[in-house]
Amino acid sequence: EVRVRFCPSPTGNPHVGLVRTALFNWAFARHHGGTLVLRIEDTDAARDSEESYQALLDSLRWLGLDWDEGPEVGGPHQPYRQSERMATYAEVAEKLLAAGHAYYCYCTPDELAARREAAREAGRPSGYDGACRELSEAQVAAYRAEGREPIQRFRMPDTTITFTDLVRGELTFAAENVTDYGIVRANGAPLYTLVNPVDDALMGITHVLRGEDLLSSTPRQIALYRALADIGVGPGLVPAFGHLPYVMGEGNKKLSKRDPQSSLNLYREAGFLPEGLLNYLALLGWSLAEDRDVFGLDELVAAFDIGAVNANPARFDLKKCEAINATHIRERLTAEQFAEACQPWLRAPHAPWRPEDYDPAAFAALAPLAQTRVTVLSEITANVDFLFLPEPVFDEASWNKAMKPGADAVLTEIRKGLAELPSWTAEPLKEAVLAAGAAHGLKLGKAQAPLRVAVTGRTVGLPLFESLETLGRERTLTRVDAALA
Ligand code: GLU
Repeated sequence: EVRVRFCPSPTGNPHVGLVRTALFNWAFARHHGGTLVLRIEDTDAARDSEESYQALLDSLRWLGLDWDEGPEVGGPHQPYRQSERMATYAEVAEKLLAAGHAYYCYCTPDELAARREAAREAGRPSGYDGACRELSEAQVAAYRAEGREPIQRFRMPDTTITFTDLVRGELTFAAENVTDYGIVRANGAPLYTLVNPVDDALMGITHVLRGEDLLSSTPRQIALYRALADIGVGPGLVPAFGHLPYVMGEGNKKLSKRDPQSSLNLYREAGFLPEGLLNYLALLGWSLAEDRDVFGLDELVAAFDIGAVNANPARFDLKKCEAINATHIRERLTAEQFAEACQPWLRAPHAPWRPEDYDPAAFAALAPLAQTRVTVLSEITANVDFLFLPEPVFDEASWNKAMKPGADAVLTEIRKGLAELPSWTAEPLKEAVLAAGAAHGLKLGKAQAPLRVAVTGRTVGLPLFESLETLGRERTLTRVDAALA
């Protein structure tokens, strides 16, 4: 049975790198009919917050990445927030000490720093030198008498650690480069280095898919899983590891949490579809097929293969992300689904019009035209606002661009043609504008520019004649008159 976990720390807003990790774990679990555990690694009281925790759950729900065990859904290994599992960690730490897999270390930070520096100067590996591995009772007593408070350190085996990374193949770490490391602070607080593998062991995790930044901690953790198996904590598994490639941002630098481009909220607020965003994030290291950039989550799940993930850094390309989202909007939503997805952007605080001026029938008439044109859902508001505002909102640049010298004359001619139309539908509207333009030696594009700005306030937008048809004769002519006044 496949059991994977997604184990974020609730420190700030979720970012796209985190989402990519969540997505790959989710897809892997779903592909294998396995279990996805959501575990909250909130043992750092100074950095974690309830607000971030809620934001995390909310983001995962919005994305549609559901979990089988974890907060809110429960499961056989509750609780799933590490802050509620402290008694377990204390117990395991005791057992590790008792079995000799861990020991108390009395070295002070200053002493450690000085010895690290000396090792570096001598060209030796600069990890922990094992000074407290075999202390005599007398030494311990002396340190205690000095008032030193020990941390707990894990005793690494003096052997090479080799494992087969699911993404990178076989990796080997020499013992001298992977030295004993702290697992419990002097004040008794367990560290990430302990609690993360302990929970993996207790929760029976079979595969760990996570970012490449954690690769250097893997040999240490593998030794700890083995020790936990030795002392009977959990079912005795050492999970298989797959380290996902770095995501690079602007200037080929690692995309950082602080990059504005990396904040998930940004994409949500701009009106990305969860499926569009996840489709793009899947491409950061994986692909469905060489000629297939756009796919649904069902296809991702059916085809997902961790062995096919590319170990090379992946570049985050906002333009491509937008293009994929636009394709999802255009091709993977029905007209009804699109109209439904637009709803939040047709209301306050996004919509500038009064709720009582919103007309669902008018929106429904133009929505199919908008569906093929918007990149993100938030763009819908500006595309249809002319329908629901009492008057269009003009920006000066658009006005000046469309109302060139001579525009008044064409617009007057157009107004005359429109007023006489027997039927107010797109085709005759177009004919009337064509005819008025021809009378002034103008092609359709030039002739319709002042009309568009007069009626919508903008120089670009949805197809004009359908827009006018929906707006209606009276409102159209009123706006043309106002522009000519
Ligand atoms: N909570 C850890 C982190 O945020 C997860 C580590 C892991 O996936 O093993 O880095």
